[in-house]
Amino acid sequence: MLSRRKLIKRLSSLPLVGGFVSGGFLATGSARAAETAVRDYFGELGVRPVINAAGAYTTLTASIMPDEVLDAYRQTAGEYVSYNELHDAVGEKIAELVGCEAAMVTAGAASAMTLATAGVLTGLDEGKAKRIPIDLSGMKQEVIVQKAHIVGYTHAIINCGVKLIVVESEQALRDAISDRTAMLYFTDEHSLDGPVGHEAFVALGKEHGIPTFIDAAASIPPKENISKFTNMGFDLVAISGGKAIRGPQSAGLLMGRKDLVAAARFNGPPTSDRIGRGMKVNKEELVAMWIAVERFMKSDYDKEYETWKTQVDWLKDQLSPIEGLAAESIIPQSPNTVPTLQLTLQSGRFSTTGYEIQKALLEGSPSVAVARPREDGFNLTTWMMKPQYLATVAIRVKEELLKARIS
Ligand SMILES: *Cc1c(COP(=O)(O)O)cnc(C)c1O
Repeated sequence: MLSRRKLIKRLSSLPLVGGFVSGGFLATGSARAAETAVRDYFGELGVRPVINAAGAYTTLTASIMPDEVLDAYRQTAGEYVSYNELHDAVGEKIAELVGCEAAMVTAGAASAMTLATAGVLTGLDEGKAKRIPIDLSGMKQEVIVQKAHIVGYTHAIINCGVKLIVVESEQALRDAISDRTAMLYFTDEHSLDGPVGHEAFVALGKEHGIPTFIDAAASIPPKENISKFTNMGFDLVAISGGKAIRGPQSAGLLMGRKDLVAAARFNGPPTSDRIGRGMKVNKEELVAMWIAVERFMKSDYDKEYETWKTQVDWLKDQLSPIEGLAAESIIPQSPNTVPTLQLTLQSGRFSTTGYEIQKALLEGSPSVAVARPREDGFNLTTWMMKPQYLATVAIRVKEELLKARIS
């Protein structure tokens, strides 16, 4: 940690805009503990808090739950309820809020992928549910995917023992469809990379009576994407609960057709001998996820977006005077489709790479995480950052850039 005095001194050298730096930038970890006499859990563990100028990344614990969500978490922890009754009731509330046929809370979008696949295979057949992933006899066993749509998370689908049929053209997709086809699987963030787009994909599923599934885990914002894919006709949609929606990081949503969501639920907890038994979502997370969705649906996302844009522009003003640096305000394609400052190190002007600066910022004091490091730069976002850290980010990034600049 920088000493408070030192950081204040550095801050006072920055031209500041009102509101962004209203105290609290040091109120992290042990500094906060000393000020408010609360227990410093991270400090006791020797784990340093990170200022998140990167975005909704799982490795950074993705998002921070708003107070309303934390209240729901805390308040529901002290009573027993029927797990199944609560699970179903929360699912109904979320479906109403989003405006889809059915919904369930899962242990993250990855769990939604596994449970969705399992449900498609088994329906409500207990014998089948007990057998996956070992013995898929009597079940359709193939899932078709476009090559460009295969990502690390695809593992969550093949967990069920299915065989992936990988295609590279619309004709190949049509040819691959048979009576062995259980599901057609699509990844939203690669929607432009494969030959078959959303609508044509959904249409193929409908034409052949095969369920279509979309991994849209990190496809919010924009806000309307929470209901876009069910409205479009995808039978099953997976979204992370702990990224832009800011529910518990371990929660996710599976939304879509009522019979298929029910079949997915059938393969999850609390029943012991099911593939999803290890994907338990506790009562606090169930309720917190409902409240996170409720809050998200009510939120004025346009206004939040404007705030992020103003913050990014402010960072740009702070950093663009650095010679040899190109600072551009952009909005990238999915994921993390939010106002972003793209910093590019012009060739020959810096003694180091974007990767090394990212590492120095992360290992520095305070620790600052930035996004998409590359040879010639990295990105900054503010949407997952506490606003009081904005000036600190400007200071630290500026310091590292100036250190590396060849004058
Ligand atoms: C984050 C992510 C997942 C996994 O989501 P969790 O909620 O962390 O399980 C799956 N697919 C994509 C594309 C993601 O970005």
